[in-house]
Amino acid sequence: MLTVRQPWAWAIAAGYKTIENRTWTTSHCGELGIHAGIRWDDDREDAVRFVRDTARALGHTLPHTMKDAWPLTSSGYVLAVVDLVGICDVSLHRPDISCGCGPWAIPGQAHWRLESPRVLDKPLAAKGQLQLWELDFTLEGQQFTAAEIIDTIHHALQNKEIHAIEGLLKLLAVRDPAAAQDVMDTLHLGIVLGRLNDTAKGITS
Ligand SMILES: [Zn+2]
Repeated sequence: MLTVRQPWAWAIAAGYKTIENRTWTTSHCGELGIHAGIRWDDDREDAVRFVRDTARALGHTLPHTMKDAWPLTSSGYVLAVVDLVGICDVSLHRPDISCGCGPWAIPGQAHWRLESPRVLDKPLAAKGQLQLWELDFTLEGQQFTAAEIIDTIHHALQNKEIHAIEGLLKLLAVRDPAAAQDVMDTLHLGIVLGRLNDTAKGITS
C-alpha cells in the first residue's frame, strides 16, 4: 500500500493522475494499493484546482462536485489498486533535465508510473503509514483509536468536508458507539445554533 493525501489519491484512483511524485524510490513493481491519507493536502483548494485543470487538459470528464466523486474523495481508506510499472528517477538526480513524464510530474522528484487503476467495490478503512506498507485485512477499521477518529472529524468540519464525516462517524460507531453518539449530538447542536445565528442575523439586518 502507498498512502497518498487527498485529492491526489482520488486523482490516481479515478485514472486521471498516472504519475506519483516521491522523494524516494522502491524496488517494488506491480500491484500497489492506493490508500487515501486521513489528512488532505495542506493546500487543499490549490490541489483540487490543479487536479481538475490538469485532468481536463488531458481530456478527462470530471464530476461536477467533489461530492459526486465520492467515495474516491474519502479519507482514511484504501480506494483502489494500480500497477506500478516503473519509476523515472532522472529528475530526482537532475531536476534541470526535462524527463518527459508529463504534467503530473514534479521536477526534482522520482516519478512513479501508475497504470490500470481498479477501484475497490468497498473502500477499506485503514490507517496510513510512511513508505510502502502491508494491509492487514483482519484489522480493517480497527486501527484507529476513537480519539484519532474524533480528531479527524473536527479536522473535516474545519475544512467543511461534510461528505467525509458520514464515513468517519460510521467508523467511530464501530469503535466507540457512545463517543459517536456524543459527536452526533454535538453536530446536531452546532446545526441548530447555526440556524439560530442565521435567524438572529436576519432579524438584526
Ligand atoms: Zn520523469
